Amino acid sequence: MNAIYQLTHIVQAAAAASTAPEQVEVIVEAIHQSMDVEVCSLYLNNPEGAMALVASHGLSVTAIGSELPRGSGLVGWVTANRQPLNIVDPQRHEAYQYLPGSEEERFGSFCGIPIVRTGVVIGVLTVQCVEARILSQEEEAFLVTLGAQLAFIVDSWLDWDAAKSTSTRNLHGVRGAPGIGLGQIQLCEDINLLTVVDEPCQDIEDEVSRWLQLVEQVQAEVRTEQSGLGVDLSLEVSAVFDAYHMLLADPSLVAGVTQGIREGRALPSALKRMISHYAELFLAMEDPYLRARNEDIKHLGNRLYETWRGRGLADVELEITTPVVLVGEQVSISDIAGVPKEYLAGIVCFGGSVMSHTAVLANALGVPAVMGLGELKGICNGETIIVDGDHGAVVLHPDEAIQKEYELLLHARLQEEGELSHWRDRPALTLDGHRVQLYANSGLLADISPGINNGAEGLGLYRTEIPFMISETFPSEQAQVDTYQQVFNAYQDKPVYMRILDIGGDKPLPYFPIHEENPALGWRGIRICLDNTSLLMTQLRAMLRAAIGRDTLHILLPMVSAYDELLRFHSVLHDALDQLKKEGHCVTRPPVGIMVEVPAAISQLAKWRDQIDFVSIGSNDLSQYLLAADRNNPRVASTYDHLHPAVLVEIQRVVDSAKSLGLPLCLCGEMSSDPLAVLLLVGMGVRRLSMSAAHLPRVKKTICQVDTKSCERLLEESLCLRDADDIRNILSTHMEAAGSLS
Ligand code: PEP
Ligand code: MG
Repeated sequence: MNAIYQLTHIVQAAAAASTAPEQVEVIVEAIHQSMDVEVCSLYLNNPEGAMALVASHGLSVTAIGSELPRGSGLVGWVTANRQPLNIVDPQRHEAYQYLPGSEEERFGSFCGIPIVRTGVVIGVLTVQCVEARILSQEEEAFLVTLGAQLAFIVDSWLDWDAAKSTSTRNLHGVRGAPGIGLGQIQLCEDINLLTVVDEPCQDIEDEVSRWLQLVEQVQAEVRTEQSGLGVDLSLEVSAVFDAYHMLLADPSLVAGVTQGIREGRALPSALKRMISHYAELFLAMEDPYLRARNEDIKHLGNRLYETWRGRGLADVELEITTPVVLVGEQVSISDIAGVPKEYLAGIVCFGGSVMSHTAVLANALGVPAVMGLGELKGICNGETIIVDGDHGAVVLHPDEAIQKEYELLLHARLQEEGELSHWRDRPALTLDGHRVQLYANSGLLADISPGINNGAEGLGLYRTEIPFMISETFPSEQAQVDTYQQVFNAYQDKPVYMRILDIGGDKPLPYFPIHEENPALGWRGIRICLDNTSLLMTQLRAMLRAAIGRDTLHILLPMVSAYDELLRFHSVLHDALDQLKKEGHCVTRPPVGIMVEVPAAISQLAKWRDQIDFVSIGSNDLSQYLLAADRNNPRVASTYDHLHPAVLVEIQRVVDSAKSLGLPLCLCGEMSSDPLAVLLLVGMGVRRLSMSAAHLPRVKKTICQVDTKSCERLLEESLCLRDADDIRNILSTHMEAAGSLS
């Protein structure tokens, strides 16, 4: 067997095992079988820093669970030196230490491979032979490759081990919805239709009529839950429920299950077959939005199955009297609807993505959410958990000090909200009298009123793709006019910056799949709009029509990377204005600006000046592209940082260049909602920030507590530092001294 074949074989066998400990067993056994070695063992770092023997083929079973104190033995040597050790006569090595009960004195050779995860040695894979032989380079490379594989597997195992203790654990997923929540875990039952054992149907006619009744019953329940969430449901929340109604009414689902029953399957088996068929279809899609729809389909299947098993609404409505955080593989809309809104402190999904309906719902309801956390094992109902939706983080079993800290933070936030009337109509003025305009970002109509209520002086970024994302087809011109008019009406005479469709990348549309190897660098933003000018034309016509009688519309172009894109856009805008005028509409040309988010734009602003009226820095994408770190990937979350000195230098360049070109500038990425980053932005001379509505009061408070001179000094100091953490430290120290870090 060649090495590649062996490796593939071992990895596939491990993947088939269902738990991490089983996977490790498979690997250890397989190594023993494929290599000419008597022993293969795995040691893992336990929370105390000792190396525990967790799996072995060849060492005495009584040794499993034994521990080598930190740094001791050959395993300790491999850990400390972070490199393989491939030797004969291990007993003669200076670091050798006998592991009691292992009977390893019989062996003439030892090879240990460090297992490294995010730069830390988390374990050691060892093989031992009776014969005194050094492993060949190929054998060593083979083990190193398997060690890399093991790093992924045991990482989740280590989590599991840590979960057994009740010590504080910080975990990272991705941001689902902003805000901070603290509450008791309420586990959402992991009802899994797909694990149902197939059974034959006893009475076909009876089963078919039960199926049709079941569909009706669930439709009624979903309607009840929908109305239970409030009469003033935003369009987005309604859209989530509508999707469920649509799936439930889908003739192919209803007919497919009916046919399955008629073929002799019991109702759950027939339902399982249909749901897994649809779920697999979606799961196989490359497009992340469509892939996320597989979650909705599984939710629905589980929901139908759950109702079939007899869990009625009455059971769902347990009395809840303290804040709870819903935690589960997937948190369904019925789980959410089952908790009174005032007690829903947060949502944590092990799986799920930012595109899932759960995340859309959490955003619209203003409930902090973290998605894609990976499975949390060993947690129980009633345990305390903190959800930090702003950073995609979760703190499990927070100790008293951390809990206190978050309680203070929450309290401060609530107080801030309470102080809102106080801040709402006050300008954001630095201590030395510099005015900073604060605008809101929005995409959901549900965000509009929070923006206004929190004193936004304008809508700095209206993400038009969001209404497109939750629609079933491209919205018609009139549907867009209606939506945009609601936005203009809400903001009255305040400026509104509407961005043309920024789809593609991490924002695909369900009905417009794009399959690309590298979507972030692919067909997205203005590139799609200019290749689909009829789509762009419809959107521009809708924006211009909705803005008739107002001078507040500003058009923002996403992902611009070339001058030619600007020329082509203006030509479409010109045609749209021309058409509408000919149709008798009294439209005027709005100012047009670009998002500075593709790094190429930074150096080109002067050359593009004649085509643009303003700029808005998209720090989310700009950081992603400057640091080559996916903004939605938890694995590179620590690399993706808007306080990275390279990001700061480039933003400063944009600010300076815009100033010298007389271009009004705003920053509308997440960075503007980070009070520490705001200090630096003020220091750079940024005088307009746009952010999610919830962050407005805190940022306003920050600005009112600093003076521009100290912000300039902090900027100067920060730009001399080498990494984001050092920068964050000096900024925090300053803020603490200013007494405004909440
Ligand atoms: C950005 O990239 O910073 C931005 C504001 O746009 P979006 O987050 O919608 O890509
Ligand atoms: Mg962007």
